[in-house]
Amino acid sequence: MTKYTCNVCNVFEYDEDEGNADTGIEAGTKPEDFPDDWECPICGADKSHLISNYEF
Ligand SMILES: [Zn+2]
Repeated sequence: MTKYTCNVCNVFEYDEDEGNADTGIEAGTKPEDFPDDWECPICGADKSHLISNYEF
């Protein structure tokens, strides 16, 4: 189970086990495998801003 937080808005959280239906991400998808045009639904940042919570 890995969770990620957008480090631009610090609001959007992504749970790898759940995916993110709002942005079309299936469960089990790692952020590096998101589409290149993926945007944070809160602030519009790209996927490179999703940081694993374990790296804080
Ligand atoms: Zn964001």
